[in-house]
Amino acid sequence: MLNHHVSDELLLSYEAGSLAEGWSLAVATHLAYCAPCRERARAAAQVGGALLETIGAEPMREDALALALARLDAAPPAPVREVKPAVASNVPAPLRDYIGNDLDAIAWRNLGTGAKQFLIKTGDGQTSVRLLRIAAGKPVPEHGHRGLELTVVLRGTLVDDEDRFGVGDIEEANDAVEHQPRAGEEDECICLAVTDAPLRFKSLIVRLAQPFLKI
Ligand SMILES: [Zn+2]
Repeated sequence: MLNHHVSDELLLSYEAGSLAEGWSLAVATHLAYCAPCRERARAAAQVGGALLETIGAEPMREDALALALARLDAAPPAPVREVKPAVASNVPAPLRDYIGNDLDAIAWRNLGTGAKQFLIKTGDGQTSVRLLRIAAGKPVPEHGHRGLELTVVLRGTLVDDEDRFGVGDIEEANDAVEHQPRAGEEDECICLAVTDAPLRFKSLIVRLAQPFLKI
């Protein structure tokens, strides 16, 4: 049983296809673990379609999104078929094209802090996507970030203040949150971490000015 789920806003954007690849990957990975959220995603797709139909027909009511979300919460749970993995793998299906089928066969790179990482390449240019492997009880490294951060636990436990994130749980954090998550004391933790990529510009002048422009 999972405790930390995808927010309505993220789920609606995911279903609308408006998330960058990195964010999508985090949401899809959580969905691979979470039958209730797969059901919410299905309902969100229907609500999104209904919302689009009403646009243009008449001016949208101010509370249209709130009403749609309320319908989402009220949607009766439908039976969800368990998705059987086609191959023996400790990697959730959405990640296999990126990292293969075995977390233990990944070419981890040492970060020098006891933690290891594996960078995942995406084409979106907007997100940094990586797997982190953190020894039991150790903090998640390189944790200064700006903007949104999505973390999905693939092995072990992540502890952030009083919150515990088990396998499949997703943590949604933004720059308003001062936090220093750690691996649980009992086991190493492997997680998928997606953050906003710093903007990269081709022009050397703009790149040089970037720190001053704070972009
Ligand atoms: Zn969920």
